[in-house]
Amino acid sequence: MALKKTPTADARCGTRRGYQAHRSRGERACRACTDAHGAYGAGWSARHRRLSAEVERLRAELAVAERGRDAAAEGMREVAELLTDLAARLNND
Ligand SMILES: [Zn+2]
Repeated sequence: MALKKTPTADARCGTRRGYQAHRSRGERACRACTDAHGAYGAGWSARHRRLSAEVERLRAELAVAERGRDAAAEGMREVAELLTDLAARLNND
């Protein structure tokens, strides 16, 4: 990899946009921009971990809800069969 140019400072230094500006000028980033970029990455990782955990929690909740729905559907089928049997017995009396 070729050595990158020495960073030139601009008003965006110390921000993510400053970091991106260094990159688009083909420079390595200055310290303030490198720190800002690292902090953003760390924040992104933390958000990603939180959201992944939330997705897992919701998947587990959905699985529980689906089992409940299946049990309810089974219960309704059983009640419907009992009603059908009762109706048949009434008609046969
Ligand atoms: Zn900078």
